[in-house]
Amino acid sequence: MLTIEEMRSYQATNDLLKDKVILVTGASDGIGRVAAKVYAKHGATVILLGRDLKKLEYVYDEIEADGGAQPAIIPMNFSSAIPTEYEQLAINIEQEFGRLDGILHSAGILGDLTPLEMYDPNTWDEVMKVNLRAPFMLTQHLLPLLKRAPEASVIFMSSSVGRKARAFWGAYAVAKAGIENLTVLFADELANTSKVRVNCINPQGTRTAMRAKAYPAEDPSQVPPAEQIMPLFLFLMGAESVGVNGKSFDARDK
Ligand code: NDP
Repeated sequence: MLTIEEMRSYQATNDLLKDKVILVTGASDGIGRVAAKVYAKHGATVILLGRDLKKLEYVYDEIEADGGAQPAIIPMNFSSAIPTEYEQLAINIEQEFGRLDGILHSAGILGDLTPLEMYDPNTWDEVMKVNLRAPFMLTQHLLPLLKRAPEASVIFMSSSVGRKARAFWGAYAVAKAGIENLTVLFADELANTSKVRVNCINPQGTRTAMRAKAYPAEDPSQVPPAEQIMPLFLFLMGAESVGVNGKSFDARDK
């Protein structure tokens, strides 16, 4: 087993994810976009999921221009998705690829940074849908496919406020605390009955649109880009992390 420092500086081989099919949510932007490109660069066929088709097509073109395996696009809006859409998505992946080796759940929204006393319940519901219900529903519906893979990996995205809440982080903090528990629940329930491993990553402050919204006064050039934390994302998706299950990782040491 690697130490956390070794995971964070993991040197993936170019073909680490060769022949693997990996679904990345929130692939149109931020950490998900970078991870989708990095997974494709390491041999994976990546399924790009997001709500904005144009932005997904742009990422698709970037992957093709970079010589990656031809990706696929699945437009889906987690704010409005109904159960049949999740069922159909599983059918589509099964029909088109016949397999699924991993999911990176990167899609997320911040909601409002405001006291609970004045938190808008509609915003609350939307944050819960996108940040907690969608990762649960997606994983649940894709489990039959994941279980058939020789060694599937599911990665959820947490946050520091999911471990220790801070004032004003509202629904986001509550949903991320849910993600920490969802990780352990799936991991424990699947440990003895499947080869699916389930872990989560707290990416910590990373230069994206979400970070800029949460910290508007911050100079983005002082925030590390998503590329810096990709070694951990590669390690957890690749075969060397088989046996790592139910863990929550910080992507950096501070
Ligand atoms: P971004 O805002 O940059 O990207 C979020 C992604 O989620 C985008 O692709 C966005 O699509 C997609 N998305 C948002 N709403 C929906 C929806 N309703 N349906 C489908 N897709 C949707 O965020 P980050 O990359 O910064 O965050 C990625 C993950 O990491 C999140 O789970 C976040 O909570 C977590 N995180 C991030 C930190 C950071 O500092 N950046 C710190 C801690 C945790 P679109 O392009 O259409 O907007």
